[in-house]
Amino acid sequence: MANYDHRVGLGHDTHRLEAGRPLILGGVFIPFERGLSGHSDADVLLHAITDALLGAAGLGDIGEAFPDDDPANAGRDSSEFLLAALARVRQEGFRVVNLDCTIFAQRPKLSPHKEAIRQRVAALLGVPASLVNVKAKTGERVGPVGREEAMSADAVVLLVRDT
Ligand code: MG
Repeated sequence: MANYDHRVGLGHDTHRLEAGRPLILGGVFIPFERGLSGHSDADVLLHAITDALLGAAGLGDIGEAFPDDDPANAGRDSSEFLLAALARVRQEGFRVVNLDCTIFAQRPKLSPHKEAIRQRVAALLGVPASLVNVKAKTGERVGPVGREEAMSADAVVLLVRDT
């Protein structure tokens, strides 16, 4: 009889909002007057998911894997971070059971974009969209998110491998 080794991983990230930057969430361009600032494309959701994947497999964090003082990572498409982390997770014999995540943004309204983000994240992970859930919340107009100074994201992923 098969035995299964399940591992849960948690990811969290925050990036500041800045004029003159594109807003990219979960690999999807979202029309907005400002975007997230950072060394890479600053995709706060993909960074949280990458950390959740690495965390579940016991492989450290995104900062160790892709240092933000490395010129090679400047302006980089964060889907490359996720795919590299996923490759390492798969090398360890794991596959994704499911992913749940929450994006925290006061504006713009993300409900029209949640399905596109879900489809994109599922495609990156190589799983059916039914295994991915994307939620969005405002900051209730308090704190850095509520004052539109920043966006944050949480992600939790469950991995499994046969033993
Ligand atoms: Mg980040």
